[in-house]
Amino acid sequence: MNTKVKIAVVVGAGISGASICLALKKRNIQTILLDAEAGPAHHASGNPIGVVYPFLTKHRLAESEFSLAAFHYFLSVWEDFDLKSVVPHADGIYFLMDNPATYDRYSNAIKSHQIPVHVGCEKIEPYSGLPAIFFPQGKSVSPVNLTKQILRISNPETRYSCTLFSWEKSENKTNIICQTSEGKIHCDYLFLSQGYQFADDPHLNWLPLQKVRGQILKFPEQIPTNAHGILYGDYITSAIEGYQVLGATFDEYKLEETPREEESILLWQKLSKKLPNLSEPWGPQNPSLFPTRVSYRTQSQDRHPVVGKLPNISKLDLSVKYQNVLRNGKKQMEVPYFESVGILNGLGSRGLTHALFAAEILVSEMFAEERITSESISKSLRPDRFLLRMWKREQLT
Ligand SMILES: Cc1cc2nc3c(=O)[nH]c(=O)nc-3n(C[C@H](O)[C@H](O)[C@H](O)COP(=O)(O)OP(=O)(O)OC[C@H]3O[C@@H](n4cnc5c(N)ncnc54)[C@H](O)[C@@H]3O)c2cc1C
Repeated sequence: MNTKVKIAVVVGAGISGASICLALKKRNIQTILLDAEAGPAHHASGNPIGVVYPFLTKHRLAESEFSLAAFHYFLSVWEDFDLKSVVPHADGIYFLMDNPATYDRYSNAIKSHQIPVHVGCEKIEPYSGLPAIFFPQGKSVSPVNLTKQILRISNPETRYSCTLFSWEKSENKTNIICQTSEGKIHCDYLFLSQGYQFADDPHLNWLPLQKVRGQILKFPEQIPTNAHGILYGDYITSAIEGYQVLGATFDEYKLEETPREEESILLWQKLSKKLPNLSEPWGPQNPSLFPTRVSYRTQSQDRHPVVGKLPNISKLDLSVKYQNVLRNGKKQMEVPYFESVGILNGLGSRGLTHALFAAEILVSEMFAEERITSESISKSLRPDRFLLRMWKREQLT
C-alpha cells in the first residue's frame, strides 16, 4: 500500500484558491497555497463588498442549474461553518425586473427551476415600486473576509509573496515540479486559480479567457439605508461596517488602473434615476469624492466558469480530423490531460456565489470520486469545451 502523504499546491489566494483549499481540507490533503501578493484577496476578490445570488435563465440550462446548485452549496458552507458570525454581511437581495424582457425571464425562471419561496420569490422592491425577485438568503458580503475565513477553516500552509513562474511534470512523470520565486516545490496535485493573470502560464494561454476591467464606488452608509442589496442593471449593496458599494462599470477593451471619475458620476446618476425614493433623501452628493476601486475579473468566451482537469494541448492529435476526411470516419478527438493538474478560473462577475461549489466539483473530479453534479453541468464547465470548439473551427492548427 502506498502510504506516502499526497501534497497539493494551489496557486492564487483569491476566493477560487481559498475554495479549492477547503475542498482539499475535506479530503485531508496536505495543501500549500501560493500567492504572489503579501496576503490573500488582493485582486478581484479584494473588493470591499460584493453580492451573492444565483444567475437564472428563463428555462433550465446547465448554466442556471449550476448557479442555483452553487448558491445552495454556498449557503450550506455558510451554515456549516457558522460564517455569519465571522463574515460581515447583510441578508437579502432584490433583483429588479424593470422591463418586460427581464420580467419574462426571471418570473418564468422561478417556475421552471421550481424555486421555493424561501429561496426566491416575486416581491415589490420598496424604493422603486418595481417587481423584483427577492432572494432572502442572498447576501451583501465582504469578499476579503469571506476569503480569509474560508482559508482559516482550510488552514493550508501559505506561501505569500511567492510567484509561480512555471511548472512541469517531473522526469519520471510521478509528480509536478513548480518553479517559484522561492525555489522549487514538488507536489502530487496542482490547482491553478490565478484569476486574470492566467495568460502568464504558457499551459493556459490557449484558453479563451479575457481580462475585464471593473470599477466600483465605496461610500459612507446613507440614511435611510437600504436593508437589502438591490440589483437594477448596476447594484447597490447594503451597508457593511459603515460603508456601501455601488457597482459596477465594466470595460473589456480599455484596462487602465486609474479610476475614471466620469464612471463614478454615471453610476450615481443611474442610482438616482432608478431608485429616487432611496437616494433623494440623502441630499446632493459629490460621487467624485468617494473612493473608487478598479479590479479585473476573468471572463470566459461563453461567460461560464472553467473548472476541470487541464487538457495538455501539446499532446493533441490534430490529424484525427484529416483521417476522418480521408477515410470518411467518425473518430472523436481524444483530449489528453495533465492528469493531476486542475483549473478553476473564468468566474466572471459571480465568483463569490460560484467558487465554493466549482472547487468542490473540481476536486471531486480530480480524485475520481462519485460525481456530485449532473454530467451536463460538469461538461458545461470543463476546459475541454473550448478545445472541441476550436478544433472544429480549425483554430488549433
Ligand atoms: C468590479 C468587480 C465587482 C465584482 N462584484 C462581484 C459581486 O458582487 N459578486 C460576485 O459574486 N462576484 C463579483 N465579482 C467577481 C469576483 O470578484 C471574481 O469572480 C472573483 O473574485 C475571482 O476570484 P479568483 O480567486 O478567481 O481571482 P483573484 O481574486 O483575482 O485571485 C487570483 C490570485 O492569483 C494570484 N496569482 C496570479 N498569478 C500568480 C502566480 N503566477 N503566482 C502566484 N500567485 C498568482 C493573484 O495574486 C491573486 O491573488 C466582481 C468583480 C469585479 C472586477
